[in-house]
Amino acid sequence: MVIFKKKADLQQYITSERGLGRGIGFAPTMGALHQGHVSLIQASRNNNDLVVCSIFVNPTQFNDKSDFEQYPITISEDIAMLTDAGCDVLFLPGVDEVYPEGPEHAAVFDFEYLDTILEGARRPGHFKGVGQVVSILLDAVRPDNLYMGQKDYQQCMVIRKLLAIQELQDKIKLHICPIIREADGLAMSSRNRRLTEPQRAIAASIYQCLVSIESKVGADRFAVVMKECIDLLTEKGLVPEYVSLANADDLTILQEYDTNVSMVALIAAKVGDVRLIDNMLLNK
Ligand code: AMP
Repeated sequence: MVIFKKKADLQQYITSERGLGRGIGFAPTMGALHQGHVSLIQASRNNNDLVVCSIFVNPTQFNDKSDFEQYPITISEDIAMLTDAGCDVLFLPGVDEVYPEGPEHAAVFDFEYLDTILEGARRPGHFKGVGQVVSILLDAVRPDNLYMGQKDYQQCMVIRKLLAIQELQDKIKLHICPIIREADGLAMSSRNRRLTEPQRAIAASIYQCLVSIESKVGADRFAVVMKECIDLLTEKGLVPEYVSLANADDLTILQEYDTNVSMVALIAAKVGDVRLIDNMLLNK
């Protein structure tokens, strides 16, 4: 695996690979890699000649300073995992390389409705930062295929919109990869490393709620199921931020199950000071 820290060096390499007719797959990450990230690399490996990954903990997408400061960094393990997974190129830039004129000069995209709900409402500025960094990374890599995880469902919708705003949707195909889970159902996340053992034990109740929401489609009212989930999470010792149901195509919030549309259930909850999110498509 070749590692580039400079955008110009990466671009020179990619331009020459593209000149050889090689198709490029790209998965952006913030490192502290786990099997969820590896699944993106594997999907990219299966469909592209050149597999590119980036690791960059983007300061502009953290609305919570302490979350940024405590974000795990495990770069040598990450490099070993990427090599094992068959990644060809790692882009590992520093903040000055990504934002040479400072983040305040990076382009700002308006995600409109998508930035007003769920994560957008709870994490002001988060998607603005995501849009900035992904547009800069896409400009550096110019991939044919972009791999992102369903784990961050709303982020996938935001990036779909970013591609549309930049009129890149025909040049870059977005692939939304399935959520990889631990044996007890907890969605893999870099932040899981920050959970203590007792916190780790209760964290899987988020997944149990999603399973329960799915099992009650057509049998119960969502308002009732939502309350049961909030009660369960609270009893277990989590602090739920939202238990929501939305149209999976455009994230319109649904007050009630609607089997005429594709639905996604989404949960955010805090376990101690670690904030976790998860979701499930209900009528796949
Ligand atoms: P992150 O490093 O958290 O920014 O994540 C980088 C990419 O990996 C994003 O597209 C995430 O959605 C994806 N990802 C994170 N966790 C998982 C998971 N458990 N399963 C599948 N993809 C994931």
